[in-house]
Amino acid sequence: MEVPERVEALRRLMEREGVKAYLVPSTDAHHSEYLPECWKRREWISGFTGSAGDVLITMDKGGLWTDGRYFLQAEEQLKGSGITLFKMGIPDPLKLEDWAAKELKDGEKLGIDPRLISVDSATQLAKTLKQRGVLLEYIEENLIDELWENRPSPSKAPVIVLSDIYSGQSVREKLRRVQEKMQEKLCDAHVIASLDAIAWVFNIRGTDIDFNPLVISYAVITKDAAYLFIDGDKITKELKEVLDGLVEFRPYEDIRSYLKGFEGKVWIDPKTVNKWIALNLRKEVRTHMERSPIQDMKSVKNPTELQGFRDCLVVDGVAMVRYLKWLNEAVPRERVTEISAADKLEEYRRKGEKFVGLSFTTISGYAGHGAIIHYDPTPETDVEIEPRGIYLVDSGGQYLNGTTDITRTLTLGKTTDEQKEMFTRVLKGHIQIAMLRFPAGFSGKQLDAFARKALWDVGKNYNHGTGHGIGHYLNVHEGPMGITPRDIGVPLKAGNILSNEPGYYKAGEYGIRTENLITVVRDDEYSNDEQEFLRFETLTLCPIDLNLVEPSLLTQEERKWLNDYHRTVFKRLSPHLSDEEKEWLKNETRNI
Ligand code: ZN
Ligand code: ZN
Repeated sequence: MEVPERVEALRRLMEREGVKAYLVPSTDAHHSEYLPECWKRREWISGFTGSAGDVLITMDKGGLWTDGRYFLQAEEQLKGSGITLFKMGIPDPLKLEDWAAKELKDGEKLGIDPRLISVDSATQLAKTLKQRGVLLEYIEENLIDELWENRPSPSKAPVIVLSDIYSGQSVREKLRRVQEKMQEKLCDAHVIASLDAIAWVFNIRGTDIDFNPLVISYAVITKDAAYLFIDGDKITKELKEVLDGLVEFRPYEDIRSYLKGFEGKVWIDPKTVNKWIALNLRKEVRTHMERSPIQDMKSVKNPTELQGFRDCLVVDGVAMVRYLKWLNEAVPRERVTEISAADKLEEYRRKGEKFVGLSFTTISGYAGHGAIIHYDPTPETDVEIEPRGIYLVDSGGQYLNGTTDITRTLTLGKTTDEQKEMFTRVLKGHIQIAMLRFPAGFSGKQLDAFARKALWDVGKNYNHGTGHGIGHYLNVHEGPMGITPRDIGVPLKAGNILSNEPGYYKAGEYGIRTENLITVVRDDEYSNDEQEFLRFETLTLCPIDLNLVEPSLLTQEERKWLNDYHRTVFKRLSPHLSDEEKEWLKNETRNI
């Protein structure tokens, strides 16, 4: 079945259910950003493969709402699907709710699988739809699943136990911390649906989802016990031994009967727990709706995790240096394409100590492809990288001791003054964030503009956040904080690790992004009794292409930051390099 036939088949089921529209959200029952194959329903119905974007199908139309990272990709992939692209985040796009109201008559219903919408979003959506005369209808059985022949089955892969050597904290201690928070709020239980939160608390990792080392499961922590709802085939002898006496295992599906039998007061994170969970609780059950304390605990890395990041970033930096050196030498002399380059980078990373896998699909974009923010080259789009213009590579690895995410933009030959200017303006924004000192209590939302100022000065901007949190051998995107205009205003805390990745994109011509991981540290010099100050420390170790830097556009301070950074990169990486590699890196990190 092609996309238009699938949509037609869905409409027949919508008719049966008595709804005039059906929402297919981007996510799954665990609010995941990247999904296991068996739950990629939005992709199945629309053909759009991006990691964010909801689809709404009505009786005669269809719409996809996605953000700036995916505009160009969505336009390509929706061709011939009959589904219209609505661009989120640029002024005045028609919102999904408004479009639904426009397409549906008063009193008509919009259906959704309650597993695929968070408690908060469900409340919000029901309210805005109601104001527009449309009713939200929960349909328990997923209509896409009913149509999807040969849908892949969920993975049976065994759970990986993460040693305390890497996690820095035992499961016993983590459960105690969560239970303490529950006690503060007088809760008897905490239901957890986020797979990365579950992985963090129970020190488990898995292979159920590409790039995100997660295990499909639900968890409930009570005052004196913990339950892990997980496919029995995934439980190993080692896991049983490690969690013996701490955790009780139950089949994944049993979460429903557990919820139905629950009595007392339960803590629900309304942004990550799905509506279906709430619908399965009995009326008498009291709920405490607040962000899960695990999110905040997880985002403040402990000393072992921080050291793990520092260590794996040396390994990752060595792989990047070897790759960049190879690329610089190979491009003028042999055929290198976007895909063959990405493969080569993976080959270098695989040799690294404690490497587990990639943390996301490598974005390897030459010239115009670099302007597609989440460009993932396929054999159909693959082009040769030529010794001129700009090439962008955004990639990362999962290591037992950390997760990496780095972008470098480089030229392999001739470049234009405009490209150099824009690269330098992006770099200025990157440096402004890296050098920033700010009072404790400020959120990334309030810092984001510093990264954009040098672009705003010439009437330019970029359609994505400046930074996201990152997990420890977990998801490459992790909340609750971020450095983005869309941030919910979570104050940054010492121990947070984020990316610093401003960019600039000229559609059809080139894309620029410079991304390092940074950690929040206390600014001892500026902090005093009245006011604590924080600053960032850059963790990623990899040269920034000086061939694209226009030094006259940098301030004295910015130039000093760049020189200092390059000195650190050389100092930390050179002990792990051959003489020839060292010589190459020496030149790449020269003073300007
Ligand atoms: Zn990245
Ligand atoms: Zn990133």
